[in-house]
Amino acid sequence: MEIIRSRSKHYFLYLLTFVLILILPSCQKKDAVRIPDLRFTPGVYPNKDITDGPFVFDNGNWHTVKWIEKNSTVIEKTMNEENSASFEADFGFSFDLVNAFLNDPFQIDYVQEFSNVKNLVAISDIHGQYEIFISLLRSNNVIDEYNNWSFGQGHLVVNGDVFDRGKRVTEILWMLFKLEYQAKQAGGKLHYLLGNHEVMVLNNDLRYVDSKYLSTAEKLGTSYNELYSKRMVIGQWLRTKPVIVKINDMIFNHAGISPDFVDQNLNPEMVNRLFLENIIDADSRTIDKDPLLDFLAGSDGPVWYRGYFEDDGFSVVKLNSILEHLNSHYIIVGHTSMEGIKFYYNGKIIAIDSSIKNGMTGEVLIYNEGVFSVGTIR
Ligand code: ZN
Repeated sequence: MEIIRSRSKHYFLYLLTFVLILILPSCQKKDAVRIPDLRFTPGVYPNKDITDGPFVFDNGNWHTVKWIEKNSTVIEKTMNEENSASFEADFGFSFDLVNAFLNDPFQIDYVQEFSNVKNLVAISDIHGQYEIFISLLRSNNVIDEYNNWSFGQGHLVVNGDVFDRGKRVTEILWMLFKLEYQAKQAGGKLHYLLGNHEVMVLNNDLRYVDSKYLSTAEKLGTSYNELYSKRMVIGQWLRTKPVIVKINDMIFNHAGISPDFVDQNLNPEMVNRLFLENIIDADSRTIDKDPLLDFLAGSDGPVWYRGYFEDDGFSVVKLNSILEHLNSHYIIVGHTSMEGIKFYYNGKIIAIDSSIKNGMTGEVLIYNEGVFSVGTIR
């Protein structure tokens, strides 16, 4: 009898353990459901020793390429037409892309208007969170499992603030550089808009730069700002990027178009020009002295404005006059962090900074033949 009782006690314990195994994971899931499984995110470069880079200095016919291995060793190589393919083994993409960019006439189109776009995905405020960025693009069929463009003639909008806060800014910039090229080949388009953090880095305001990057710059014997100067390939590339883009009846802009923008009778083309010609690389005192530049670079300008969400005086009437001025139906902004993609003012303002910066998860806005939806990590 004693033996039987002790056995049944054991059976009870087994049963209890079994039930707990069944119940516990579903309890945990409630908190963890929005957290992506980072174990399945891809590596960045085939050479696993690379921890930052490449930083490509444009010297005309040849380029100096520098990168950092194992967080400490600086590698420096010269790249020319003959050996550019060998860099593919380290970085996984051909430096022919660099040549393709540099061989293209350096023309900036300040008019950024696109029509008849059927499919679009928009993401904002990535802030160095490479893993989430890749997971979101893969989950929503913008890139394939090898991180190559798979979105055909679709448009991908990156609505500013790739820089600062996180630790994998360089990787995202090169990924975008590559995707821009691949999208163009496929008849699609990548739009990378300048946010306040791009403008800050280009203008040497390094308040939010992660310490990793200050140390990278030090190892390379330069300043962080110099890593994005006009001498650098990525620096030149960033200086071709717009602040306002119109696609179909949607205005994309990092922070928002304020009522003052309309009062001053500004238009996207003027603003794209003024940012690239008069604000980027300008001395802050020069900007402050000019009322128009001061407005554009300031808190009511298109890379800092938060009025749609934080100004009690903002109204549907004001929004309608802005939309009318821009001849558009929707304004899509990042900059002001939300829990996910949010629709305001009857869906006319779409806020797409889904707090990717926290490094937990994020969302993208999907546009498919006139219908909006939200894309998550799957
Ligand atoms: Zn911002």
